[in-house]
Amino acid sequence: MTNEKCEKCHGRGSYMYDENHAKPCEVCCTHSQGWWKLEEHYGNDNGKYACKNGCGTVVDKDPQAQVDTLSVAN
Ligand SMILES: [Zn+2]
Ligand SMILES: [Zn+2]
Repeated sequence: MTNEKCEKCHGRGSYMYDENHAKPCEVCCTHSQGWWKLEEHYGNDNGKYACKNGCGTVVDKDPQAQVDTLSVAN
């Protein structure tokens, strides 16, 4: 999967979200580091999972569960 045409980061894989801070691009992030569960202190996101790459993507349930299911064939 190429990110050359990513409109958000222009293919760099990260972008500046303010003048001093860069973050991984959530549009073309592969979330390859896995996910960590948000607990307490996260308000509406409590119990959800966030990308360990730090791209800011949050999902409702553990994406690894899907990966495990798909990799059974291996
Ligand atoms: Zn991107
Ligand atoms: Zn990610």
